Formats: sequence, C-alpha cells, structure tokens
Amino acid sequence: MDQAKQLVTEQRTFFYTGQTKNIEYRINALQQLRKGIEKYQQRIQDALRADLNKSEAEAYGSEIRIVLGELDFALEHLQEWAVPKQVPTNSAMPDGVSTIYPEPYGVALIIAPWNYPFQLAFGPLIGAIAAGNCAVIKPSELTPAVSRLTYDLIQEIFPQEYIAVMEGEVEASTALLKEKFDYIFFTGSTGVGRIVMKAAAEHLTPVTLELGGKSPAIVHNDAELKLVAQRIVRGKFLNAGQTCVAPDYLLVHEQVHDELINLIGAEIKDKFGDDVLQNADFPHIVNSRNFDRLSKFLTDGKTLIGGRSVREQLLIEPTVLGDVNWESAVMKEEIFGPILPVFTYSDLNPMLDEIVRRPKPLALYLFTQDEQLQDQVLNQVSFGGGCINDTLSHMTSHYLPFGGVGESGMGSYHGQQSFDVFSHHKSVLKRSE
Ligand code: NAD
Repeated sequence: MDQAKQLVTEQRTFFYTGQTKNIEYRINALQQLRKGIEKYQQRIQDALRADLNKSEAEAYGSEIRIVLGELDFALEHLQEWAVPKQVPTNSAMPDGVSTIYPEPYGVALIIAPWNYPFQLAFGPLIGAIAAGNCAVIKPSELTPAVSRLTYDLIQEIFPQEYIAVMEGEVEASTALLKEKFDYIFFTGSTGVGRIVMKAAAEHLTPVTLELGGKSPAIVHNDAELKLVAQRIVRGKFLNAGQTCVAPDYLLVHEQVHDELINLIGAEIKDKFGDDVLQNADFPHIVNSRNFDRLSKFLTDGKTLIGGRSVREQLLIEPTVLGDVNWESAVMKEEIFGPILPVFTYSDLNPMLDEIVRRPKPLALYLFTQDEQLQDQVLNQVSFGGGCINDTLSHMTSHYLPFGGVGESGMGSYHGQQSFDVFSHHKSVLKRSE
C-alpha cells in the first residue's frame, strides 16, 4: 500500500476508536504539542535561518510566538468551545429542545506553504486537534529544514495513526489528494488552490483555502505619515515581502507622495541599515526561480528606492517603484517579494473601481483619519480582512477570523474559528416523546 493510502487508512481506523473525541485527550495532545515546540525551539529557529535566513527574532516573533499564542488560547477555551450549545426552538413545537453539537470531521489533511512554513503547518494543526480530528500534514518541499523538523517533532510526540507528517515534492501532495479525507485545509497559491478544490470535489470533501492575491495599501492625504512609513515598511519587508498579507502595492494621495517616499526610505535605513544587502539578518528569496521572477519586476517602473540584488545570495533589497500602471507586469500577479509599486491619486474613486474590478484581495490597508472615507472603502471593496491605520495586525488577533474571499480564499481560522472550521456542527431537535 502506498504511504498516503496507508496513513489515511490507519488514521481512519484510529479515529473510529473514538479516543480523539475525548476532551481530555485533546487537551493532553495540545499540551504535548506545546512541550514539543518548546523543546524544538532552537531547531525551529535554526531551520528557518537555513531555509529563508530568518533571524532568530523574526522566526520567533512571526512564527513560533504566533503558534504558541494560538495553542494557549485553545487550551484556555477548548472546554467551552466543545460544549453542545442549546438554541431556541420554534414556538410551534413547545416540547422541542434544540442543540448544536460540534463534532470532529475525522481525518484532516493540512497542506502548508514555504513562506511561514512552521506557523502555517502548526497553526491549522491546533484547530484540527482541538476539534478532535486525526491529521496528516504535508509541509512545503521548498523549505526542507522546516519540513524535516516538522516530521521529527510530530513523530516524537504523536503516534502516526493520530497525527502524521508526509514529506515530499508535489507528487506527495498529489498522492494525498487522491485519498478521501474528511477535511482539507490548504494554504498556498490560488493556482494550486484550484487543483486542491478539484481533487476535494471527487470525494465531496469540504475545504478551507487560504490563498494569496494583490493586497492594496491606501494612504490618504490626512494620514500620520511617519507612522504610515513605519507600518508599511514592517508589513511589506517582513520576510523580504514573502508574506501573504503583505501590502502588494501602494495607492498614495499625490499631495503626500514625495514626503511618504522620503519617510519610507528613512525607515528602511533605520530598520535594516544603510546597506540592506550587507544585513546578515535580511531574509533571502526562497529559491532562484522566484528570484528570477522577481528580478524582472525591478526594472518595471522608475526605481524610487533600492533596486539592487545579488543572485548568488538570492537577495533583493527593499525596492520602491514609481511610474507603474495597472498594465505593468508587476501589477499582473501577486509580487510576493520586497518590491513595492506606488501609484498616486487625486481622486480615490477610480482607484477603488480598479480594485473592485480585480480579484478580491486577501488584505486591504487604509491609512486615513477620515471616518467617512473609512466607511466608504469598507462598504465598497470586498477583501479577506485588513487594517485601518496599520498593516498585518489583524492576523494576530484570536478574535478576528483570518481568511480570504473569492480568489484569495474561502473559509477562515484563528482563535475559536480554528476549532469551528475543523468541526461539523450537528443540529439536533429533541422532542419529549
Ligand atoms: P504553492 O501553492 O506553490 O504550494 C503550497 C503547497 O502545495 C506546498 O506544500 C506544495 O508542495 C503543494 N503543491 C504545489 N503544487 C502542487 C500541485 N500541483 N498539486 C498539489 N499540491 C501542490 O504555494 P507556495 O509557493 O508554497 O506559497 C505561496 C503562496 O501561498 C502565495 O500565493 C501566498 O499568498 C499564499 N499564502 C497564503 C496564505 C494565507 O494564509 N492566505 C499564507 C501564506 C501563503
């Protein structure tokens, strides 16, 4: 029997023993996971350094800390999430009692990408375990050190009939997708998301798709520009721009354009040093294929900041491009690197029309004090989630379900939503006789 089939068969048999449904069992599993992560912390940081040159601080702040935070939140609230909820019954049936029972789907598949390879494998796993499922994780082959440690960590703390890791290239994913899972949680590109959904349709398996897209950041003329520069530089150049919710491009009111570009230039120097290419802690581009894809964008407009790169080290410095238009190559696909095209506007309305005509973004960021404008943008543009006067922070809240819409994804997780997404909510109406 091939590995994918064997894992699913073993896990389904184990699931039917009912052990994973026990709340104490789930709590214990989450505690084991926490201990395992603590034990492996140095190795996780070393692997993220080896695969992407993330510094220890960045690896901890943007991956390990987020997973531990979600774990602690789940441990704190799991008992209350798992309790069946009574709801009112229609008055026509006075003897009826209506209850919603959350129950695990069964065997879940979690497919992870390479950009936050630890967080995006272990984050969904917390939801799968909390809800009482078995799970198979498929890490990204593009981050081999994290893939290996994911395998080692999980193998050390869980039997494979409960939680397993199947490493490998695309073929491993393809083999897994042929099997019948009870839930599939995929994080990755929109293109592969379509493949996953087609495969899931064969078995009518429900899916969550956490995908990507082009997320705009809008800076109006009343914004607090120094803060805007800090928050855009942090959001855009974290992990060298290889962040699904990074601002992909900027729309800046023409009155504040020059000042904002100067402030962004100063902030880049302040945060990464005078020469980012000499900064030993600046993450590199994941591989040469992506480096070459991004390099073509470097000349796609007028370089306002940066523009240099070193292929041997897969490094591209933070780069800001002016003179771009909607037809430029850099505007045709998700950038996913440290390159930031900037448009100016005097009237935001035609810009909003452009955004609305395009695939729905995963995130949108709006910098303005004008509450009417805030309402207008929120009302007019559909996007996965976002911030007003900040970047990225919405995805760190346990209380804000995180996910895309349209081509940027379907479904969401984080906090209680991670429990709910891996649970079927079984509705039962009970009559007295
Ligand atoms: P990807 O879609 O290439 O790969 C993701 C996973 O799918 C990997 O494990 C890979 O092995 C597997 N895979 C690749 N090709 C496949 C195929 N043909 N059939 C089956 N499985 C296949 O994505 P990536 O390059 O790893 O990640 C970057 C993308 O992920 C970006 O678009 C980014 O925006 C998106 N992303 C989204 C989120 C989110 O939370 N919404 C988070 C991180 C990344």
